[in-house]
Amino acid sequence: MRELLFKSYYNRPFTCSSCGGNLIFKGVGEYHCEMCSAIEYDDYGKVRRYLEEHSGANVSQIEQATGVSRKSIQQMVKEERFDVTQDSRISLYCERCHQKIQTGRFCSKCELEYNRELEERNRSVRNIKMEGIGMGSEAKDNKGAKRFERH
Ligand SMILES: [Zn+2]
Ligand SMILES: [Zn+2]
Repeated sequence: MRELLFKSYYNRPFTCSSCGGNLIFKGVGEYHCEMCSAIEYDDYGKVRRYLEEHSGANVSQIEQATGVSRKSIQQMVKEERFDVTQDSRISLYCERCHQKIQTGRFCSKCELEYNRELEERNRSVRNIKMEGIGMGSEAKDNKGAKRFERH
């Protein structure tokens, strides 16, 4: 269970360290405070940010500079979020098609599709809620009804 949490969150920050406001996920390990717009990073964001400026860094250099544990860094490498090769250069791969990318989580094509899917899902969830008002408790069996899916 600890591994599962670790895998999805990388010590995700939830509250702003300067004002205590809620942090909103902005992508690639970056979070913005909705109150004071401060920027915070999770472990992935810290490592990624460091590597943008020090692309040849090896694991111990990353560990020292970011304070993220060696174990976490190696876990990220294992998940192919970063790739540490012989000369300690680190590459990024698209999380969907695994093609090599320069920055972020997805290649530009997948990022577009990913955001479209998110928007679509958000839209259909809202539709269900609206339709649900006049329809009693049973939601109609439509394309966006994934939330109500049964086995
Ligand atoms: Zn704040
Ligand atoms: Zn891709």
